[in-house]
Amino acid sequence: MNAKNPKAEDVIAFADRSWGTPCPTCGTALLGHDAVLSLMLGFADGPVCAPCLARPLGRETVPFLEGAHQNVRRLACYRAGWAHADARLSAEGPWPEDRIPFRLRMPAPEEPEGDDDEDACQDLSLIHI
Ligand SMILES: [Zn+2]
Repeated sequence: MNAKNPKAEDVIAFADRSWGTPCPTCGTALLGHDAVLSLMLGFADGPVCAPCLARPLGRETVPFLEGAHQNVRRLACYRAGWAHADARLSAEGPWPEDRIPFRLRMPAPEEPEGDDDEDACQDLSLIHI
C-alpha cells in the first residue's frame, strides 16, 4: 500500500487489519474508525485510538472526530473505509457511542465515482483538523 495515496480497498484492509489491536498509547482496542483516522493523519505504521490522536492536538475527542469527519467525507478512499467500519461496527453489536458518535456514520456512496476517487485521496491539502 502507498500510505500517502491509498486506494479505498487499502483503507478498508487497513481498518480490518488494525481492528481490535491495542492502541500503542493507551491500550484501548482499536475500531476501524480509529484506523481510518490514523491512516489519514500519517500513523500508517502504528494506528492509535481517536482520543490519543486528538490529545496531542489539544482537542477534545468529539470535536476532533467532528472535524476529522468533514475531511473523511471529502476524501473518497477514507470515506469508503469509514463506511466499511460503520457497517462492521453495526454488525458487531450495540453501537459504542462513547467511542464514535452515532451521527458520524458515513452514508455509503450511491454509485462509484471512478478514477476521481484516487485523485480525491491524494489532495491532502484538503485536510484541516
Ligand atoms: Zn489510545
